Amino acid sequence: MTTKPLNATELTQLTTGLNRLARNIWWSWDQDAQEVFHELSPRGWQNLYHNAVAILHEVSDYELRVRLQEPGFADRVRKVLDNFDAYLNEKATWGAANAPQLKANPVAYFSAEFAFHETLPIAAGGLGALAGDHAKSASDLGIGFVGISLFYREGYFQQSVNHDNWQQETYTQLNPRNLPLEPVLDSRGEPLVCSVRLAGCSVRFHAWRVNVGRVPVYLLDANRPENEAHYRDLTNRVYGGDSTTRILQEILLGVGGVRLLRALGIQPSTFHMNEGHAAFLTLELIREKLAAGKSFGEASTLTKGECLFTTHTPVEAGHDRFSSDLMGYAGQKFVTSLKITHEELMNLGRVRANDKTEPFCMTVLALKLSRAANGVSELHGAVSREMWTELFGTTDPDKVPIGHITNGIHLVGWMKGPARRVWRRKFAALGRPDSAFVTEANTAEFWNRVTDPEFISDEEIWALRYKLRRELVEFTRRRLLLQGRTFSQGDFITFDGFLNPDALTIGFARRFATYKRAPLIFDQFENIVKLAQDSARPVQFIFAGKAHPRDDAGKAFIQKIIHLSKFSELKGHLVFIENYDIHVCRQMVAGCDIWLNNPRRPLEASGTSGMKTTPHGCMNLSIMDGWWREGYDTQNGFSIGPDSHPADVDEQDRVDSANLYKTLTEEVVPGFFNRDASGVPRQWITRIRHTMATLAPQYSTWRMVQEYTTKSYLTR
Ligand SMILES: *Cc1c(COP(=O)(O)O)cnc(C)c1O
Repeated sequence: MTTKPLNATELTQLTTGLNRLARNIWWSWDQDAQEVFHELSPRGWQNLYHNAVAILHEVSDYELRVRLQEPGFADRVRKVLDNFDAYLNEKATWGAANAPQLKANPVAYFSAEFAFHETLPIAAGGLGALAGDHAKSASDLGIGFVGISLFYREGYFQQSVNHDNWQQETYTQLNPRNLPLEPVLDSRGEPLVCSVRLAGCSVRFHAWRVNVGRVPVYLLDANRPENEAHYRDLTNRVYGGDSTTRILQEILLGVGGVRLLRALGIQPSTFHMNEGHAAFLTLELIREKLAAGKSFGEASTLTKGECLFTTHTPVEAGHDRFSSDLMGYAGQKFVTSLKITHEELMNLGRVRANDKTEPFCMTVLALKLSRAANGVSELHGAVSREMWTELFGTTDPDKVPIGHITNGIHLVGWMKGPARRVWRRKFAALGRPDSAFVTEANTAEFWNRVTDPEFISDEEIWALRYKLRRELVEFTRRRLLLQGRTFSQGDFITFDGFLNPDALTIGFARRFATYKRAPLIFDQFENIVKLAQDSARPVQFIFAGKAHPRDDAGKAFIQKIIHLSKFSELKGHLVFIENYDIHVCRQMVAGCDIWLNNPRRPLEASGTSGMKTTPHGCMNLSIMDGWWREGYDTQNGFSIGPDSHPADVDEQDRVDSANLYKTLTEEVVPGFFNRDASGVPRQWITRIRHTMATLAPQYSTWRMVQEYTTKSYLTR
């Protein structure tokens, strides 16, 4: 350990290094880097919501230099910076070996939302989480990749509830200076400005770059002084405004995104549309080819060769549809630049050509102009083929060219501190260097070892479970205190009596879209109260999630659950954490014992939150929908009902709620409370081991991005 004071050059190296590190969200999936920022300002870490850039504004440069003279600390900072540079400069990546051609001509991945970290809340839910995890794994794997999205200055809303427990939305302005964003500049060091035609106007935009490890993600921003006010506000909110805002945002994303890439001199080999929102990019690609002298037919064939499409939902409302009038207004420029008629334009987004009653559907446009398309689980692939038979002129779903690539999560990034520490320690005990952890934590080989009690004992797994549950209980109590204004007076001082660190803890958190049926479990209210109040085998419930601002049915679900949490016998055993986001998600998937998922099958195309539980020893209790249909093997979690569903939805709700209660009381509760003489639930832990071995490596974006690369990106 160095004890000699650092000289000015060394200090400058470290402070510049830390500033560079804070502006690459790689730090958010490197545990030692996080700990450095945490140590710099422990309260700031909490109050500034784990924002490394803001912490470096909070800690003066002078303080930083002084603090770096603490010898052990400087060594740790240097180690983190060395690891960071080694990561950035790594040559021997999976991508270098398997997809070298993507280096010069990367994949351009367009997504209306990306969730990277809680300080950059520009996503509404799972679609964004998936996109963020895709980018992180593309970076880890070292494949040529660039992301495109919008910079939503007000982000997604902050959720609170009023005295009627009705969701309230508030928006705060994000300040780019305090975020891991860098302005995209031109060769003169000025902001790079591009433009796109929206309705009748030329709208100018600049962009911000998020450094995601080795890959850039560009966020387009129309907030420029020279734009008219309503265009300046266009990129304010994620899925904000009405369908006019929506279509204009989507033109900016698709068309503007291609223009930005061209201005940056990036020539992608593939344009990957993550959901239909970005599908207007196909029209820009056609326009470019027309301008280069191709016919419309040639241009669309060439464009089709360049594009890929991932569809994400069988829910009708999840497919953007725009009326002919709106297309005429917002997309008038397409008609002139593509030299087609309005009806020809409309037909690109229609299943039935020339059917004037049919609106323009972004999914249809994407499907027509992609060389390959996929759903996000096996069942969702099948459901999507059925949905789009008519579009492909067949009655046989097997003839519809939509495959599937099942989703994953960025496994290492989702590991909460204590779990990650355990797995790193185990990895080190194998004699493996820590620098290989991120790679090897994604292998079946690593997780297979977990089934061996010599590798990790029952006691160690159980201790980890207790630590994570304890942290969740304390996190939840603190949040209740912050959101507690709508509880009755007496509760403020007694939140410590809310939740029980020994209880079987069941979590449910995701968007409150109605098909996810958040309150389903309370259909068995009397029975659930009995479970919660059983002092020998207590069960408790933690819920969280936002409803879309215009979804009153989803808000009514929230209201119902909060009402039960405050005014029923479940008080203290059921809590609702407001303002669900990545951070709340991480606490919950780590701390809960059971992750509940009860969508109305087959509407949950994949679901990913359940995958985040695995490295923590939390297990899924889920309807056989989405990824769970593939993941479940009878021993790695719990299923609700069979691999089929009744046609009638009311019947389905009844059957599912009965089956949910049945599995809960017959398998889950007895399993969790079946302890041996030393108080350890041996069989439960055996199940946890098997869960980790079978699910952790498989449902990772490491596997998923490799699959996209070999099946889709390299098939041009
Ligand atoms: C992972 C994640 C989701 C996705 O949850 P599903 O259960 O797949 O719907 C939603 N929101 C956040 C913040 C997430 O991190």
